[in-house]
Amino acid sequence: MKITQSEALHKEAQQHIVGGVNSPSRAYKGVGGGTPVYMERGEGAYFWDVDGNKYIDFLGAYGPIITGHAHPHITEAIKKAAENGVLYGTPTKLENIFAQKLKATIPSMEKVRFVNSGTEAVMTTVRVARAYTNREKVIKFAGCYHGHFDTVLVQAGSGPATLGNPDSAGVTKATAQEVITVPFNDIEAFQAALDTWGDEVAAVLVEPIVGNFGIVEPVEGFLQQVNNLTHDAGALVIYDEVITAFRFTYGSAQKIVGVEPDMTALGKIIGGGLPIGAYGGKQEIMETVAPLGPAYQAGTMAGNPASMSAGIACLEVLEEAGLYDRLDQLGAMLEKGMLDAAEKHGIDITVNRLKGALTLYFGSETITNYAQAEASDGEKFGQFFKLMLQQGINLAPSKYEAWFLTIAHTEDDIKETIACIDKAFAEMAS
Ligand code: PMP
Repeated sequence: MKITQSEALHKEAQQHIVGGVNSPSRAYKGVGGGTPVYMERGEGAYFWDVDGNKYIDFLGAYGPIITGHAHPHITEAIKKAAENGVLYGTPTKLENIFAQKLKATIPSMEKVRFVNSGTEAVMTTVRVARAYTNREKVIKFAGCYHGHFDTVLVQAGSGPATLGNPDSAGVTKATAQEVITVPFNDIEAFQAALDTWGDEVAAVLVEPIVGNFGIVEPVEGFLQQVNNLTHDAGALVIYDEVITAFRFTYGSAQKIVGVEPDMTALGKIIGGGLPIGAYGGKQEIMETVAPLGPAYQAGTMAGNPASMSAGIACLEVLEEAGLYDRLDQLGAMLEKGMLDAAEKHGIDITVNRLKGALTLYFGSETITNYAQAEASDGEKFGQFFKLMLQQGINLAPSKYEAWFLTIAHTEDDIKETIACIDKAFAEMAS
């Protein structure tokens, strides 16, 4: 496969854009370097790059794309929004429609506010929790990524871990001291953290189903215990559902795990591919937010008609019955194909999957926390990633990320992908 145009573009990009990319993971550092492929067009489950090569896409833009690229219903909504003017700076009816749609399926979000990214959404929930509780500390789980604001860039998985620095430079010592990090799925460690700092903790930040050191589900009872212990300590539980909402079911992961948080942050899928974030929670807590309360949060672009329209259209597509079962079936087929190919070629892998999202780790250890994901073989993943890319399969360039299926993928796409996995494993075993 020739990627000469991508190579030329990446040389040019590096002269003007820091690292040549506008988000670090895109630079392929997590897979041992190389030239990132420059995509030009996406349609359904496929991408075409600037050299004309075709790919089956499993990156899904790191999560937002679940309907496939350029879904006609969403494209139509964006076109209509563009024709009506993309930004007003006034309230619009679209915001009411969208807020009600979210509330109808995520009842714990009694009041909602739209923002522009997942980072903004989570950042604001933390500020609101601090304002509401009049406390400062935050507990998070190791390896969980919650965006790029200072408080959460401590033992953050996903992108930062991919680059080998889960803690960011530029975060002040004082900020780092506000954050307590404990291993996911370890209720004793969580209890111990609360025993020490409980009366200073404003909030516990949780990915109810982890998406940032691969797809990792909570062990039985863990999230309920987290809720109970947090509330006993007088702190709030915040679910970061930026990846999980509308990924595994129509609605949020709180519906799957059967536990309700005090506040929720959303992003990714709810924008239908356009920039978005949203946060919300119990009415009494949300009344802390300006203009009703003293916690300030604002946004020039917040609730813009283009993102609202794309988001509403995306949810309309996802409302169709049976879509998540279909994603589950395709996911199961892909998982089985991976495991069979690994057995055939004597390669140790572990697959964590929920519905249409899965992570392939190189190693045989069960993955229930970040330390285990970190111990999986990144060099092997890098080799595998490149062997797949050369065959026209586009994955996230990091051992910590998920493969995201879309409703546009077909059984034939999965069969083709399994054949490519088989070839890649054969080469790795030789
Ligand atoms: N929270 C989680 C769980 C995420 O996965 C991400 C992005 N990967 C974010 C927050 C930040 O979202 P954004 O990149 O839109 O700022």
